[in-house]
Amino acid sequence: MMTMGVDVGSTSSKTVILRDGKEILAKAVVSMGTGTAGPEQALNQALSQAGLERKDIGCLVATGYGRLTFPGADHQVSEVTCHGRGISFLLPEVRTVIDIGGQDAKALQINEKGRLMNFVMNDKCAAGTGRFLDVMAKVLGVPVEGLGDLSAQAEQPVSISNVCTVFAESEVISHLAAGAKLSDIAAGIHISVARRVAALAMRVGVEGQVAMSGGVALNQGVVRAMEAELKRPIQVHPDAQLAGALGAALLAAERAG
Ligand code: ADP
Repeated sequence: MMTMGVDVGSTSSKTVILRDGKEILAKAVVSMGTGTAGPEQALNQALSQAGLERKDIGCLVATGYGRLTFPGADHQVSEVTCHGRGISFLLPEVRTVIDIGGQDAKALQINEKGRLMNFVMNDKCAAGTGRFLDVMAKVLGVPVEGLGDLSAQAEQPVSISNVCTVFAESEVISHLAAGAKLSDIAAGIHISVARRVAALAMRVGVEGQVAMSGGVALNQGVVRAMEAELKRPIQVHPDAQLAGALGAALLAAERAG
């Protein structure tokens, strides 16, 4: 039986197709989120990769910020539940998940079955989210995908003291004007995000093995800075950005079963 998870995010759309709740048949990420053609494109990309049509999908679960507006879903499930399940499938030993997406950050505790035990979330402020990184990458004139490699060359990360994204942006501009190296500024930006998110994670409690999910997990600079803040290793699966869609496809298989 084929099931599908669709994660309609604020910034990007992700889909996963599973066979019998066990085998990943297809996956897609489209860099357009809710309110755009992104969800539909991600759905069609995954279906064509798997050589399937919509009618072949036994159950479809939508998750993410825009899940309620996605047409044709059999169920909607919150992204915290889905990220927990998805990460547990990819990295079964993990008990703490730090999910940084386009416009929020969450820290979750999960049990050995991937069930959500507790979580905290920041969705009130852009600091400590992908949005903060996207804004800063633009100011530096580099693609957000390149920030991690850039920060790896840092020698003396700059300090970014403002929490507010707008003020932090001015701070970055003044570092640029003062001639600071781009790599040192990028590292300072990552430390700023990591401090915010580490404080969030401490509130839920960081226990057992730790993993990151969401698109920002692909930024090695943030992962390294988070490891330094939490003083422990963090696992990142190559499909970390797809964890929510994968969890949704797993829950679809359970519900259909
Ligand atoms: P959402 O689910 O809220 O739409 P995602 O979990 O897809 O968001 O995360 C989007 C964020 O991930 C972007 O704002 C960007 O900062 C970051 N991101 C996405 N792809 C990459 C990449 N290849 N390298 C580094 N950062 C990335």
